[in-house]
Amino acid sequence: MWPYHPDLLATPVPRYTSFPTAAEFGPIDPNAYERALEGIEGDVSLYVHIPFCEKICFYCGCNTGHAGRRQRLESYLDALHMEIELVAARLPNNCRVRRVSFGGGSPNAIAPVDFVRLVDELTLQFHLSDPTFSIELDPRTMSAEWAAVIGSVGITRASLGVQTFAEHCQQAIGRVQHEDLIVRTVDWLRGAGVTSLNFDLMYGLPGQSRDDLLDTLQRTRVLGANRVALFGYAHVPHLIPRQRVIDGSALPGQDERFAMAALGYEYFVTHGYTPVGFDHFARPGGDPLAAAALAGTLHRNFQGFTDDAAPNLVGLGSTAISGFPGLLAQNEKNSGRYRMMVSQGRLTAAHGIVRSAEDRERGTVIESLLCQGHAHVPVRLLPTLAPRLAPFIERGLASLEGDIVAITPDGLPYARSIAAQFDPYRQDSQRRFSSAV
Ligand code: SF4
Repeated sequence: MWPYHPDLLATPVPRYTSFPTAAEFGPIDPNAYERALEGIEGDVSLYVHIPFCEKICFYCGCNTGHAGRRQRLESYLDALHMEIELVAARLPNNCRVRRVSFGGGSPNAIAPVDFVRLVDELTLQFHLSDPTFSIELDPRTMSAEWAAVIGSVGITRASLGVQTFAEHCQQAIGRVQHEDLIVRTVDWLRGAGVTSLNFDLMYGLPGQSRDDLLDTLQRTRVLGANRVALFGYAHVPHLIPRQRVIDGSALPGQDERFAMAALGYEYFVTHGYTPVGFDHFARPGGDPLAAAALAGTLHRNFQGFTDDAAPNLVGLGSTAISGFPGLLAQNEKNSGRYRMMVSQGRLTAAHGIVRSAEDRERGTVIESLLCQGHAHVPVRLLPTLAPRLAPFIERGLASLEGDIVAITPDGLPYARSIAAQFDPYRQDSQRRFSSAV
C-alpha cells in the first residue's frame, strides 16, 4: 500500500478549503464585501450557518454553542433573517442562486418550524427557483418532524456526523450515539427523499484500534452511505480548549494514523466507492460527487470537495465565509456583535483577504492538485518550485514533466503536503494546522 515517509508528513499543513487559507485573514476594507456582492457575475451558492448544537462534542473545532439557550438562539435567527434581506438587496438582478447549504453547528438544533421560516425567507429574498438544498445533521437530535420538513422543503443531500460506531471512542470524544439512532435517521432521511447521504467519519481517535475503524467502515457501507468523508482527528488543544478533556496519551501515533488512513482508502476503493481527492469517497452510479471526480470537474470550497462550480459563495450567519474570485470575506465571529451590526442594517464581513492575481494563480494550482491530482505550473514559478518538490519526486510521490506537476498513486496521502509547496504563506505553520494525515 502507500509508502510511509514520516519526515514528509512532519509539518502540519492546511486542508486548503480556500486559498489563501483563513489563517491569512486580516482586516479588510469594510466596503469590500458590499462591492463584491454588488459586482457578482455568474451563479451563486449560499451557505447558511447555524452555530448551535444540543450537545457539544469534546473534539469540536466549530464555532457553536448550546441550543438550550433559547433567547440567544431566537435573537440569532432574527438577525439571520435581517442579514438575508440585507445581502439579497445587494445582489445584481441577473444572478441566480442554484444551491443552498445549511451547516454549523447542527442546523437541526433549531426547531423545524424555525427552519421552514428560514427557507421561506431565503426563497422570497433570493427568488429561489428549485435550487439544490443540502444540510448537515446531528443524528442525536433528529426527529420524525425534522425528516418531514426535509421532505417538504425538497432537501436531497444530507450529511450525518457519525464519526465512529465504537462506543468506547464515542465516550472518549463526548459524542455518544447508539447505532439505532443512526439507523433510524438513515431510514427517516431515505423516506424523506434524500438521495445523497454522506457519513462523516474519523480515524486517529483516542483508544481507536484498526478493528474499531474497520467495523465503522463496514457499518457505514451496509447502511448505504452514498458518500464518506474520512478525516484524521486533529488534536490541537492549544487552539481548541474543548479538546483538553480528551486524553492525549490515548491517541494513536503518527504511524498508526497513517495505517488507518490507508485502511480506509483501501476499504472504500475495494468496495466500489470512487476516491474523491484524498479523504472523500462516493458511490458511482448517480452520486454527483463521484461523477465529478470521474469527469475531472471536482472543486474545493469551504465545505470540502464539491461538484459545485459556482464562482461565488455567499456565507450567511455569524462566522460564515464568502468567497468571490477576488475576495474572501468572513462575517463577524462574535455572535453578539454580529446581531448588533445586522440590527443596525450593516453587513458584518470586515475580515478576510483580497485575492491578488498571484493568489488566484497559486490557488488554481492547489485546487487542481487536490481535486484532479495534477496541475499546470506557471512557468515563472518553476525555478523556485522544482527544488521544493524534489523530496516528493525523488521518492516517487510526485512527478514534474514540463510544466505539469502530478501526484502519483503512492503520493495521495501526501497531497496536502505537496500542495503546500505552492503556498508562499506557509513558512512557520507548526502550531496552526493539523497533521497532513
Ligand atoms: S455536533 Fe458537530 S458541530 Fe456540534 S459540537 Fe458536535 S462536532 Fe461540533
